[in-house]
Amino acid sequence: MARSMIVANWKMNNDLEQALQFVTSLKNSLTANPDAEIVVCPPFPFVIEVSRALGNSSIKTGAQNIHPAQSGAFTGEVSANMLSKFCEYVIMGHSARRSMFGETNGFINTKVLSALDNGLKPILCVGETEQERESGNASTVVRTQIKSGLANVTDIASITIAYDPIWAIGTGKVAEGSGEVLQEVYPGSYNTPSLLYGGSGTPQNVSGFTSDELIDGVLVGGASLDSDLFSQIVALTLEAKSN
Ligand code: PEP
Repeated sequence: MARSMIVANWKMNNDLEQALQFVTSLKNSLTANPDAEIVVCPPFPFVIEVSRALGNSSIKTGAQNIHPAQSGAFTGEVSANMLSKFCEYVIMGHSARRSMFGETNGFINTKVLSALDNGLKPILCVGETEQERESGNASTVVRTQIKSGLANVTDIASITIAYDPIWAIGTGKVAEGSGEVLQEVYPGSYNTPSLLYGGSGTPQNVSGFTSDELIDGVLVGGASLDSDLFSQIVALTLEAKSN
């Protein structure tokens, strides 16, 4: 059984003061739980401060992106090697990066391999568009994203997959039956890697996803900007997974 996991993806939001306030109140509101992995992914400039503020608490720091190279003439980019001293996780393959920055499955695979080589655990985001879902292609698209994204990966236990349907991100729409899409893609082995649901998660709807035994936790965008909402999501997820 994989551990429950709840990931906050702040995207390009919060300033340093808000970031540190969030971390302080999250630390105060949560008690360490060996069954839960809670990860906060701030924008790059706040990664070091957030990781220092989290100190030796059980809450982990993640980044939102890496470049696959170790170093070099990649202006504006950050390598896994640079982040590995401050982070344990890194999000990759998010639909924002696929659609706004042209990231392909092949390129995302090089990031996954680089993260693993440098001791970072990838959170690989996958998900279909509304059109792909309506035309019955959701599981084919997701299967291809997972297969290509994880090509040549041997350390599958370090991987988390976040099923983040594009039409559900930040829209208030949620994907019912997400576990079924994931089971079609990952039959029988759904607990390794860990599987998360992402897309307009809130305290109101999170138990509906996390009570599905196929889903280990949630990737939260908008509702992770408010530490009270995020703490509620953590508590509700742990409650659902303990039943
Ligand atoms: C996301 O961006 O991965 C996400 C899940 O965002 P939101 O919760 O805002 O839909």
